[in-house]
Amino acid sequence: MKYSNQEIRELTDLTQQLLAKEALQKADMPSLVQAMQFHEYRYYVLNDPLVTDFEYDKLYTALKKLEAAHPEAILPDSPTQRVSPDLIDGFNTVAHTVPMLSLDNSYNEEDLFDFDKRLKDLTEEENISYVVEPKFDGSSIAIIYEDDVLTRGATRGDGVEGEDVTPNVKTIQSVPIKAAFAQHGIKKIELRGEIVIRRDVFQKINELREQKGEKLLANARNSAAGALRVKDPREARARGLDAFMYQIGYAVDADGNDLLHSKFTNHHDNMALLASLGFRVPLAESGLCKNISEVDAFIKNWEAKRETYEYDTDGMVIKANLREVQDKAGFTAHHPRWAIAFKFKAKQATTKLLDVEFQVGRTGAITPVGKVSPTQLAGVTISSISLHNEDIIRQKDLRLGDTVLIERAGDVIPYVVKAMEELRDGTEQKLVFPTACPVCGSEVEKPEGEAVWRCVNAECEAQVEERMIHFVSKDAMDIDGMGRDIVKRFYGLQLLKSIEDIYHMDYDKVLELDGWGEKSVERLKNGIEESKQRKPERLLYALGIRHVGLTTAKTLMQAVENLFDLANLSMEQLQELPDVGPKVAQSVYDFFKVPANIQMLEHFNEIGLQFQKEAKPAGENKLNGKTFLFTGTLNKMGRNEAKQLVEDNGGKLISSVSKNLDYLVAGEKAGSKLSKAQAIASIKIITEDEFLQMIA
Ligand SMILES: [Zn+2]
Repeated sequence: MKYSNQEIRELTDLTQQLLAKEALQKADMPSLVQAMQFHEYRYYVLNDPLVTDFEYDKLYTALKKLEAAHPEAILPDSPTQRVSPDLIDGFNTVAHTVPMLSLDNSYNEEDLFDFDKRLKDLTEEENISYVVEPKFDGSSIAIIYEDDVLTRGATRGDGVEGEDVTPNVKTIQSVPIKAAFAQHGIKKIELRGEIVIRRDVFQKINELREQKGEKLLANARNSAAGALRVKDPREARARGLDAFMYQIGYAVDADGNDLLHSKFTNHHDNMALLASLGFRVPLAESGLCKNISEVDAFIKNWEAKRETYEYDTDGMVIKANLREVQDKAGFTAHHPRWAIAFKFKAKQATTKLLDVEFQVGRTGAITPVGKVSPTQLAGVTISSISLHNEDIIRQKDLRLGDTVLIERAGDVIPYVVKAMEELRDGTEQKLVFPTACPVCGSEVEKPEGEAVWRCVNAECEAQVEERMIHFVSKDAMDIDGMGRDIVKRFYGLQLLKSIEDIYHMDYDKVLELDGWGEKSVERLKNGIEESKQRKPERLLYALGIRHVGLTTAKTLMQAVENLFDLANLSMEQLQELPDVGPKVAQSVYDFFKVPANIQMLEHFNEIGLQFQKEAKPAGENKLNGKTFLFTGTLNKMGRNEAKQLVEDNGGKLISSVSKNLDYLVAGEKAGSKLSKAQAIASIKIITEDEFLQMIA
């Protein structure tokens, strides 16, 4: 550390003396500067202050007063001198001493091991040790010290040239204005690091801005980059910047001899040296790993806790620890070969909204789908994203050409969080909703109280196509060998014109198509034949009646013996069924009033689809009304399969742990539901295997 215990005691005593003095004199100025440098270091670098903010402010104000009265005695390394009162008029472009290259990226374990293998091949080393550091989501910087004094701070720019932002860099308290490099034989040194903003500081800044009615800053990274380039250093200081140093770019002694290859031969030791000189380095959060397996484990451990880290990070940086290895590996034109970035799966990303397409669904609903420049989000490339409906587009004021922030949380489909209004240049265009169906040109309607526009034409090509796709889909008739693309192709070729046609395919014509052979046609034939055996509730769901999902279809079928019986239920009778509200009832009622629908069903009945519920043979009710809940990871069956098994055997599923639950089936990694269930004595907790034995 920068200060020894002895020095810490002395500086603490000095502080107390200064605070106790009635009036400070010109002669106290050097002591004040010395004490305040110490407290800045404790506060900004170590995050461990030894005085209160009030005491610090008291000393700071006293020093400023003395400096105003005795300008000739101002010390260049006084904390007050961090903030230049002069506005910066334009930033000069400066060349980096050594280009600031970017890092190659890796995204998974395999990439990491490949990197290690490549590096070993290249260097002919049998084993390579690495340092792993957080990859801060901030703004890169190169800072030069000459004769112990900070002389220049420059942004990364294009890597070859950046902008000279020295006055703003000097306002960052975790960057020492002076550091004792000469003691280590260093005349001039360039450090690389990242300018960042702590999350809570960033939040406070935004809260303040909101109170003042100022525009909110989008994120900590942009805010840091922006703050480095503000023209008023006082404003830069107000942005609460922090800096981590993580690399030595170059270093020479008084005779101009390069020290990188003689003195700085071990990255981990280099960082420890910088820490001892008063710099903030990610030592505590980095790992010195003996091999790539340790790197992998370190990253996994870090990724799990990164949400709670006080700075934004978007990955880890892996560097070969020894200079010798780094030298052997060298550089490509773009990257060092001895380092790689490991990118965390982004949960949020920004991209450009390029275009919008209006898609018509099977119920005529018109959904705006944004086309965006392809971007990585949580490990998936996103090129289009649902914009839901007109109301949401209006609320979020999304415009073509906007840079948008998109997010994907868990299994939820990605969505647009907001447009980055601050990045608009005036060329963005408002989204115009179509006044007619974009596919068939029919009129569109939006009933009072609904958000969705619909094409009113039931024969609309898009609707017919989507209905067929729904019919063959997995939860519906699950026709093996027929999916979205095949339906589209057949529909385009007029091999399919309606759902009924699925059971009357012209297989000879299919056989003539590119990509089809005897085998695939046979598979399709079997898939279609086999689908005739699906239970009536699956058929009911497959019909695509609005508001009738699989669960509702099951409810409806529980009320009748034969699917045709539904045609005889009144609105009132329908609404008496559990979970059937007026909307669902109306939709079902209307469906069975359309003669064409009844004709289609009669046709399906003739060709052998299932309308009659199977009478349950006695003894099949092994679970006999017992209630079940599944939690954790199941290994032998999917969730849906498990639910089906419960229902087929006369059991019931419930959705939460309560006294009404008879059995909790706990798979691997079962969490809170398991602990809740353990607290209720009447619940039997069983394994997946025990469940399967119950119904065997
Ligand atoms: Zn239409």
